[in-house]
Amino acid sequence: TFKAWVVDKGEGGQSLSFRDFDEADLMDGDVTVRVTHSTLNYKDGLAMTGKSPVVRRFPMIPGIDFAGVVESSGHPEYEPGDAVVLTGWGVGETHLGAYAERARVKGDWLVPLPGGLSPAQAMAIGTAGYTAMLCLMALDHHGARPDQGPAIVTGASGGVGSVAVALLARAGWHVIASTGRDGEADYLRGLGAAEILDRAELSGPPKPLAKERWAAGIDAVGSTTLANVLAMTRADGAVAACGLAQGMDLPTSVAPFILRGVSLLGINSVTTPQPKRREAWARLARELDLGKLAAMTTTVRLPDVAGLAEEILAGRTRGRTVVEVG
Ligand code: NAP
Repeated sequence: TFKAWVVDKGEGGQSLSFRDFDEADLMDGDVTVRVTHSTLNYKDGLAMTGKSPVVRRFPMIPGIDFAGVVESSGHPEYEPGDAVVLTGWGVGETHLGAYAERARVKGDWLVPLPGGLSPAQAMAIGTAGYTAMLCLMALDHHGARPDQGPAIVTGASGGVGSVAVALLARAGWHVIASTGRDGEADYLRGLGAAEILDRAELSGPPKPLAKERWAAGIDAVGSTTLANVLAMTRADGAVAACGLAQGMDLPTSVAPFILRGVSLLGINSVTTPQPKRREAWARLARELDLGKLAAMTTTVRLPDVAGLAEEILAGRTRGRTVVEVG
């Protein structure tokens, strides 16, 4: 057996406990990993609290990403002792997840630990940071360039937002960081934000079009915030949308698209094919300032992660949270 957080379902709904889990009850997979680090993502908060039905199988070990060391492998690419990273693929949702000392997964889901990153640094990036890179890659692919105007980041003090601010600033963008937290202006400037915007300015009822303020955006918030971001995007600009921290709805109109040629770029990190995954990790290893990464990271131990589930959903965790396992 090994220690794990486990979500069970009973008559009263979901319950969460820290208990022994039998290795024989791990699900099918050709690689068994000794997990050394995981992280706390917004989706982990949803899984642990049951506030949204992200857990699709019970019992479930939550935790959507991990770094660890291969213990045994039937996969041609991996051998015992290899350092690996996993994000997505339904781990922590439909497949037993990362808040445990062991995980058994498909080798095809893994990526080798990117060169230059420690397991703890890879998980300080984690799903949120990797998703921020997918957003930047989508903007790059669209042809967005810093000489076209500023870039807005919403939910800037959160996990995706913090990494997005650092990456965009490194790429030469004038970054406008939108946050609801007065106290985090210095934090965000330290990550590279040139301007701070009170998120209340993006929370009101959106007009179809408003004054053009930025050429690009990375949005982790959705709902009226994304609608306002789109309405304020310059002609031919683009916004990469990856999140729903404010809500799943999008109360917008076609006006930004058909009158300004704005593009909305959808980002799904869960099932990204391997070549793009590896490109994203390679770029993170090259382009993310490790000093800034350290500045946005808090570390907790596995038994303490459940206490943060409500905190992340309430937008009270700053930056990224690494979970030390084992
Ligand atoms: P997080 O650390 O909690 O960051 C979310 C941030 O959004 C908060 O820190 C807060 O920033 C802001 N926020 C929270 N509630 C809000 C509200 N009601 N109105 C406006 N802003 C609000 O979470 P995360 O792990 O970075 O994830 C961010 C979002 O991206 C989540 O919705 C997550 O599910 C999504 N996501 C999607 C993918 C994908 O594959 N598409 C991958 C990773 C994450 P401020 O305090 O600075 O305002």
